Amino acid sequence: ARAAAAAAPITDGALADGTAVPLLANLGTPEAAEEALALGAEGVGLFRTEFLFLSSEKAPSVAAQREAYIKLLKAFPGKKVVVRALDAGADKPLPFLNDAEEENPALGLRGLRALLANEEILRDQLTALAEAEAETDADLWVMAPMVSTVEEAEAFTKFATEHGLKTAGVMIEVPSSALMADKILPATGFASIGTNDLTQYTMAADRLLGSVAGLQDPWHPAVLRLIREVGAAGAATGKPVGVCGEAAADPLLAVVLVGLGVNTLSMAPAALADVRLELSKHTTEQAEALAAAALSASTAAEARQAALEAAGR
Ligand code: PEP
Ligand code: MG
Repeated sequence: ARAAAAAAPITDGALADGTAVPLLANLGTPEAAEEALALGAEGVGLFRTEFLFLSSEKAPSVAAQREAYIKLLKAFPGKKVVVRALDAGADKPLPFLNDAEEENPALGLRGLRALLANEEILRDQLTALAEAEAETDADLWVMAPMVSTVEEAEAFTKFATEHGLKTAGVMIEVPSSALMADKILPATGFASIGTNDLTQYTMAADRLLGSVAGLQDPWHPAVLRLIREVGAAGAATGKPVGVCGEAAADPLLAVVLVGLGVNTLSMAPAALADVRLELSKHTTEQAEALAAAALSASTAAEARQAALEAAGR
């Protein structure tokens, strides 16, 4: 399937009825932009800034960050680029932001929590991003990782606005924020669902632990029900909702996500071709039928099977 999809002409992501579903790339370095563009990425849906600084002992300077962000933004003229504020902690510890002594780092001072406890690091990053934006014509969006409350969404959005950044949003990767999406979206500009962490926290299964890997399945109806809440809140508020976790790279699940109300999908560039091809085979109505079938299942395996059957396979 991959070879066939790779041979198809590269078009923008769309359903069979023409509904646009922009297909974006997940990147960790500006150097990865070239390959993403060659594979038809319509922009960047998740730039993981922590990968730039994994080996840094101290917080990166505004100048060093600005340089990296300019390089990234210049690769996507006129296109949407979603940059995530440092998501330090748990699987991505940064020595200058995290306390290595925490017993449960996945439940600790990580992501936006760590940034709000170290405001100067957040301010420096937003300053560097605003300066980079001023030198390029990419459409820069910024977002906060690991948001669990409305107050956190408000705080990040306020910080970003104060730094002159026009589009600020939050990741939904904790069940509390998925359940409260109808209150969180009015407090910010957009939502991007991180299905890797959302699955980990919904199933209470460490995403890095092989012995519980069977539970780390975004097809689980519990995860799909939470995504439905976010999709519905997006429709009700008119705010964009994306998915940037691994779930977006699973072609059939990508269709289900669109059926749940997700507007854009961001993934590892290698997955773009297969997802593009699968989306083109379903109308909005069919995507909604696949989503309804998956939602009514009892298990992850049944949800996948129900979606396959709804797709006539
Ligand atoms: C996620 O949690 O789904 C996500 C996209 O972020 P990360 O994998 O970097 O935690
Ligand atoms: Mg995450």
